[in-house]
Amino acid sequence: MIDYHLHTARCCHATGALDQYVAEAEKKKLAEIGFADHFPLALLGFAPRNQVTMNPGELDEYMEQVHALKKSSGPVKVKVGIEVDYLPGTEERVAELLGQWNFDYVIGSIHFLGDWDFTHPVYADDYKNKDMAALYRRYYALVNRVCECRLFDIIGHIDVVKKFGYRPQEDLEAIRLETARLLHKTGTCLELNTAGRDAPVGEFYPDRQFLAMCRSEGVEVTLGSDAHAPDQVGRYFPEAIELLKKTGYQELTVFEGRKKSKQPL
Ligand SMILES: [Zn+2]
Ligand SMILES: [Zn+2]
Repeated sequence: MIDYHLHTARCCHATGALDQYVAEAEKKKLAEIGFADHFPLALLGFAPRNQVTMNPGELDEYMEQVHALKKSSGPVKVKVGIEVDYLPGTEERVAELLGQWNFDYVIGSIHFLGDWDFTHPVYADDYKNKDMAALYRRYYALVNRVCECRLFDIIGHIDVVKKFGYRPQEDLEAIRLETARLLHKTGTCLELNTAGRDAPVGEFYPDRQFLAMCRSEGVEVTLGSDAHAPDQVGRYFPEAIELLKKTGYQELTVFEGRKKSKQPL
């Protein structure tokens, strides 16, 4: 099994040494893991109120460390990933930056709407006075742009806007169908991200219906725990694998040097 979404202490909100993540993966008998820490926001010209990514000066060291783990011959294969914030208007800059490092895969994620870090618990109260239907529409419009810019291999935690349990009354079916079709059309891989089970919403990203919709639209899938501590590596994976199989998935997509291949579930 694979876990493609692991963080490191560099992002300022994760703990543990890289070796501890690898050791936990070995304990849980994972065949392959990938570190995908938060790409420095400062390089995108954005300064959030709370520091949630590594500093630009730390990226080379991160790459060296993860590449060294990749070269070592332990029982767990290690891949070099990164999680990049999608901020509209930064596409050219991101394209240029991503060419400067040697990644196995790049996850594109949305954590910010304007300057609001809507995934951060500190700002969760800001949901209270918002029009949820408008918020969700705005969020999914950005998800669509993540696909359309074709800069990213994987979309991270695709429905994370539900994280704190705020949902619109209206049915999202048509909006999500459009997104699922775009994922397929652009070859952007979906991530089944198990971290949502530990968030207030208490369910995976995406939920079962959205996952099934992606499956029927032919969207490829990968798996990640979004671990911010070593003991979170592979969290809820037996349940996630069962869910993937139930929705009809038979294989996971894996990456090497940003090229895809398939692995049976
Ligand atoms: Zn994080
Ligand atoms: Zn994320």
